Amino acid sequence: MSEMNQGNTIRAAFIGSECYPFVKTGGLGDVMYALPRALVREGCEVRVILPLYACIQQKYKDQMIWKGSFMMDLTQDGRSFFVGIMEMSMNGVIYDFIENREFFDWGNPYTGLWEDIPKYCYFSKAALAALNYLEWVPDVVHCHDWQAALVPVYLRTRFAPTPVGSARSVLTIHNLRFQGICSIEHLKYWSGLPDELFNYSVFMVNSNEANMFKGGLAYADRVTTVSRTYAEEIQTDFYGEGLNSHLSYHREKLRGIVNGIDVEQWDSRNDPLLPVPYGREEALAAKAENKLALQRRLGLLEDSGKRVLGLVSRLTDQKGLDLVDAVFERMLDENTQVVVLGTGDPRYEGAFRYYENQHRGQVASCIMYDESLAHLIYAGADALLVPSLFEPCGLTQLISMRYGTVPIVRETGGLKDTVAPFQPESGEGNGFTFDWYDAELLLDAVCRAREVYLERRDQWNGIVLRDMDKDVSWGQSAREYLDVYRELKQ
Ligand code: ADP
Repeated sequence: MSEMNQGNTIRAAFIGSECYPFVKTGGLGDVMYALPRALVREGCEVRVILPLYACIQQKYKDQMIWKGSFMMDLTQDGRSFFVGIMEMSMNGVIYDFIENREFFDWGNPYTGLWEDIPKYCYFSKAALAALNYLEWVPDVVHCHDWQAALVPVYLRTRFAPTPVGSARSVLTIHNLRFQGICSIEHLKYWSGLPDELFNYSVFMVNSNEANMFKGGLAYADRVTTVSRTYAEEIQTDFYGEGLNSHLSYHREKLRGIVNGIDVEQWDSRNDPLLPVPYGREEALAAKAENKLALQRRLGLLEDSGKRVLGLVSRLTDQKGLDLVDAVFERMLDENTQVVVLGTGDPRYEGAFRYYENQHRGQVASCIMYDESLAHLIYAGADALLVPSLFEPCGLTQLISMRYGTVPIVRETGGLKDTVAPFQPESGEGNGFTFDWYDAELLLDAVCRAREVYLERRDQWNGIVLRDMDKDVSWGQSAREYLDVYRELKQ
């Protein structure tokens, strides 16, 4: 008999496509790591279910134990696929990895929508089948982004008569831009879901296409997104990515809960990746030392008196890089250096390489993914640029504040909710902000920041210390998720 949960402890199964430190391409990976840990601290039992991608480092694979395997039918024509379960635990969280070489041996997690649709149909169904196999029935399955969006649908259909069918579902939108859209036939085939779900209230977006996220949002018991402002924004045309009416229709079950960061993972006092770790007391001197180390590492002129602007980001149009590109040369002056770390769209990669070539010693463009360099930039830069077109929550501004690096952000989504604008009269605020998506306004914010940095250093230092004092941990938000789980358990 399966192990039912009768007590007050909440059991949550997290289902998603990436999780630090196993595999991370962006903020989703951070949340899948940090939120379960925070929930465990609040007394929850949490399992995280992930694909066993080939790219997961061997040192983690060596810690996993084999829990068993079975065959699972998936497609419309009843083809069966192997499901293996490998398990490990870390800091009170259990991680179950779904093994299947056909789907997950490609290297990177995301390889293109054509393969990703079958991959995540399989994964969503296998995750629920694995919970039944493990005889661990959660109160809540907490699904993340489009890759896990079929879970609420499977839960209420194929799995309704099975033990896991008693669970309720939460679907969190980390980024609405990616939805898992394909032809109706492709999704019908790979999901094996019944024809009657292919209507306009669930999967269909037009007479040819189906949308996995749309179906999940319709079927989930609760929908959350990662900031209050984004929860409002996605109900509008501009930010709704075509799903605004669908989300407005379901708004009774929509909540905005802002992300935190794992304050042990991001702790400037105990960060092994920093040449000079620092607490609040020694922050100003230590940041200058880290700046010198950053300049040395990247071949910039070594001078802690220079102002360093950092940018750590996926290089996509979401991140406001058109604005940065438009005013790049005008942001520079003899006292300013710029450090860019990111990969993505070739047009932005090319633009930043060009600026580095034009301004050797003053601009460094690191077109790569590098965790240790990211830490050094958060510690060594003076300010971090996050001028996003849209930003569901954004973690880089939270990390930078924790490291005493002042964010310069556009007032959208989580950026608006987490960075209070600097007030010159009172000296209060966490960073420099601008509202409309306009390059001149970004430049204005950068210039305002420069003026305070150069001419009112005590006020600048006040922002640095206030940012380091700001609570960016998961504590409060984890409790808000717990409230959602409790509501559902009643
Ligand atoms: P998104 O999820 O949209 O990419 P977030 O701000 O939510 O943006 O999260 C980005 C995360 O990825 C942060 O932890 C950031 O430090 C990290 N990151 C982004 N690009 C790089 C990179 N090139 N190298 C190292 N870390 C990166």
